Amino acid sequence: MKREPVKDLRSFLLQLEERGELIRIQKKVSLKYELAGLEKRLEGAPAVLFENIDGSSMAVVSGLCGSRERVGLALNTSFESIHERYAQAHLGAKPQLTKDGPVLEKIGNVKLSDLPIPLHFEKDAGPYITSSIIFARNPKSNYQNGSVHRLCVLDNKRLVVRAVEGRHLDNCIQTAKNTGTELDVAIAIGVHPAILMAAAYQAPLGTDEMQIASGLMGGPLSIVKCPGSNLVVPSHAEMVLLGTLDPEQLEEEYMTEMLATYDYKRLQPVITVRKILQRKHPIYHDILPASREHRFIMSVPVESKILAGVRNTVPSVEDVRLTEGGCNWLVAVIKMKKKYDGEPKNAILSALTAHPSLKIVYVVDHDIDISDPNAIEFALATRFQADDGLVVIQGAKGSSLDPSSNQAKRTTSKIGIDATATLSIPWDRFETAKIPGVDQIILKNYLPKEAKGLFQ
Ligand code: MN
Repeated sequence: MKREPVKDLRSFLLQLEERGELIRIQKKVSLKYELAGLEKRLEGAPAVLFENIDGSSMAVVSGLCGSRERVGLALNTSFESIHERYAQAHLGAKPQLTKDGPVLEKIGNVKLSDLPIPLHFEKDAGPYITSSIIFARNPKSNYQNGSVHRLCVLDNKRLVVRAVEGRHLDNCIQTAKNTGTELDVAIAIGVHPAILMAAAYQAPLGTDEMQIASGLMGGPLSIVKCPGSNLVVPSHAEMVLLGTLDPEQLEEEYMTEMLATYDYKRLQPVITVRKILQRKHPIYHDILPASREHRFIMSVPVESKILAGVRNTVPSVEDVRLTEGGCNWLVAVIKMKKKYDGEPKNAILSALTAHPSLKIVYVVDHDIDISDPNAIEFALATRFQADDGLVVIQGAKGSSLDPSSNQAKRTTSKIGIDATATLSIPWDRFETAKIPGVDQIILKNYLPKEAKGLFQ
């Protein structure tokens, strides 16, 4: 039987390198702002492997999913089909439990200062691990959850974790708190990006994120049990930190979030790390907060969730996009071919329900390019009437990140904008004019030599 090639961070880096989408930097780089500064300056470029980090023997990779095309590559599909991939993910092969794996190559005590954990932004509370997937079991149900959380370094053994209230890790923490126990955690750093994108997918409570990862990768994900623990982790992770979360021990943390603004200061639980499992020459993965990589890893799974939710109510919805201007989190555009005039409003309500952080939802017709902000404004300018197409919802729970929301009550106003053409006016009044054959013209056949370089 032919064995499927292993998919891990290293195989993905190889894929990127073959496509000319990986830059290696050999110059020594400081973890204090310099690494983050370089990541910022290289945004939109290929992924970057920093091979020489001041103060750490590990290499650092960043920008793996810095474009929608690379997100598609990570999920083994074209970026137009990403959401179909999510819809099918739960049907994929089951994760395969193995006895051994590269992550067990080296097991030792951990000193966090040995890890290349960068200090990213001026006012962050400290150095942050940003690509970390935290695995924990609910002490009562024994269900294992995996989700992405930032971790701030307090000292050589302790991290403070941002565990968003009401999400699944918080559910495990609250159960531990109520039963007076501590929570065992395994923190994976440096995995194939499909695993990160599975952990960022807000599946219903009880769904195994590793099953989603398996489905997204198109083959069984190999997992291994951590020594001295009942947690399982991807067996090809670059490193895994094993530790204990104490629900009663809290420390302050705050850092730059998806909106590129600073999150407010909160007391969050502390994790004490005991052991590190690692591969030989492990590669550390850093995600620059608010970068395209951060936003795509978080928002593409949420787009899938919105699309599935809205399609339940309005099957004619074709696509959804969380816009870059809306920080890939607060503003969605829905594309549909409506049959009835009321459908866009149903789509607005479903989208707001599917992704509670949403603040603004546009609905546009099927002929609008939802990746183009000008096309969305065109729909608004030519197809929207505020007295009929505007939905305003006051005092709803929204994203805690939005600094314009009611900071005391944590509420926000939400709007939906139906920018689809009304069915009561014939479609040809809205149709954008076309010149027949315009796309077939080969310009270089017509232009003088000196102008050829100007046009494609
Ligand atoms: Mn979960």
